[in-house]
Amino acid sequence: MLAVQIRSDHSVAVIETDVPSIAPDEVLVKPCSCGICGTDLHILHHGFPGTRYPVIPGHEFSGHVVEVGRDVSGLREGDFVAVDPNVTCGVCRWCKMGRPNLCEKLDPIGVGRPGAAAEYVAAPARNTFIVRESLGGNLAAMIEPLACVLHAVERSQGVLAKDVLVFGGGTMGLLTAIVSRLRGANRVVLADPMPGKLAVAKSAGVAEAIDPGLLGTEAFDVVFEAAGSRAALDQALDLVQKTGVLVQVGVHGEHDSVPFNPFRIYERELHIIGSNSLADKFPEAVDVMSEIADQARVLIDDRFEVWDFGAAVDEMAKGQTIKTQLRFGG
Ligand SMILES: [Zn+2]
Ligand SMILES: [Zn+2]
Repeated sequence: MLAVQIRSDHSVAVIETDVPSIAPDEVLVKPCSCGICGTDLHILHHGFPGTRYPVIPGHEFSGHVVEVGRDVSGLREGDFVAVDPNVTCGVCRWCKMGRPNLCEKLDPIGVGRPGAAAEYVAAPARNTFIVRESLGGNLAAMIEPLACVLHAVERSQGVLAKDVLVFGGGTMGLLTAIVSRLRGANRVVLADPMPGKLAVAKSAGVAEAIDPGLLGTEAFDVVFEAAGSRAALDQALDLVQKTGVLVQVGVHGEHDSVPFNPFRIYERELHIIGSNSLADKFPEAVDVMSEIADQARVLIDDRFEVWDFGAAVDEMAKGQTIKTQLRFGG
């Protein structure tokens, strides 16, 4: 089969390699859409924790089951599926505590294990979820980032009737704004300095999408920092209401640090909470994607073929698009 391969010298190539052979508890999937995100950018250009080079990237994907391992039940050839890429050990203390995203031996598809930027990809059956075919490949491939957002909203201790501010108009920020509205937030404001992203936010139904410079001093009950920028984090800390929650969703550099004033946290009894990946939210995201399909569709840019992986990542890095997804032609 053909596959995209990223090497440790940060080069990318299309190679010919064997179709993965599946374990008894796995299925073989023929991908039909694959999203790329900041993780892929890191794998390609800087390195990302857990990456085993050379690696076939692609962790946000949908496709059809073409082969089923002998121990698999509940999945058949031809099923349309989306795959939770986070392959966990199931036995470490974090797995046992129901915190699979913190698994000590986490081995995600497309980071450690071979990913979906290929003609075929193997996945454990327990990570593979049937999706209704009418949802379409693009939206099904966006279930993974949606699941991350559902986890972040849960980590926020809930948004019902609260005023919510989201920094960052990328996929995570926009989906967070959309889900906050769905979950009954009183008010949802999204802040991003890029006019193009604000325009997409508005067409996705996020009415209050503004430049962060226009935010003023009004405080919010829940603030999501989904920009991954120091400026956003600094401003976010100032705009959390008394007893409010700041959720760190955006990925900063592993060694970045930000000066902050502890008095702000003490005085207002703030909660500062991290949200990492999707935990156990994939099945719930399968259902929620159907509810937000019309809004989510607005985020997608699928101009690139999977074999143009490097060009697609470079284009995504320019920040002009929201969710870049790769097409599988023919
Ligand atoms: Zn991703
Ligand atoms: Zn584990």
